[in-house]
Amino acid sequence: MFKKTWDKCLDILFPQICLNCKTFLEGAENKNNLLCHDCLKSIAFFKTSFRLSPECRLFALGPYEDVVLKKLIHHFKYKSFRNALTPIEPFINIYLEDLVEGTLNSYCIVVPIPLHKTRLRERGFNQSLLIAEIIGEKLNLKVVPEALKRIKNTKHQTEIQDDIRRKKNVLNCFAIDEKSVRNKSVLLVDDVYTSGATINEAVKMFRHAGAKEINVFVLAKTR
Ligand SMILES: [Zn+2]
Repeated sequence: MFKKTWDKCLDILFPQICLNCKTFLEGAENKNNLLCHDCLKSIAFFKTSFRLSPECRLFALGPYEDVVLKKLIHHFKYKSFRNALTPIEPFINIYLEDLVEGTLNSYCIVVPIPLHKTRLRERGFNQSLLIAEIIGEKLNLKVVPEALKRIKNTKHQTEIQDDIRRKKNVLNCFAIDEKSVRNKSVLLVDDVYTSGATINEAVKMFRHAGAKEINVFVLAKTR
């Protein structure tokens, strides 16, 4: 009883609004989703996977140009609101069932793109690890964060405009634990794929370390 009254007081004092259209949110489900029903429904999730090369698939949940999806990812990544994953978690699960599950073998390991320890301290969590854990749990695959380590505290890729500089920025930024990836299938996980420089650098490392098969999963990719 007290909790209900308290929740109502909070609603009046700090009404929760949709992350996108700013209308007041009503009902527990919309509040948990951080979005109104219409905005959540508007996200144009992909129903397909992509290829980075003939032997490397890119699984992406939706287009990064989708304003609502982009706002959710920013909320999750830069404001450290882990609950920004709540509305898209069911869609991650559907995507995994429909497009990913059948293509990976049960020996595949899931490896999140790591943050440098300085950035990790600032942000408090690695967003890619949280996504990797959802995938590991859903597909019953082992998550191996220690396989890849970030040894260079690189500039934010978003601060760099041209592709050549982005490539240079992440060159040799990773160290790999060869024995945990040799002859393994790997699903590499990141939040977004834009210029591809970071992921391509990581893919290169896995290839050199003798990984048998490498695929990539991201929440969003640019068109
Ligand atoms: Zn809305």
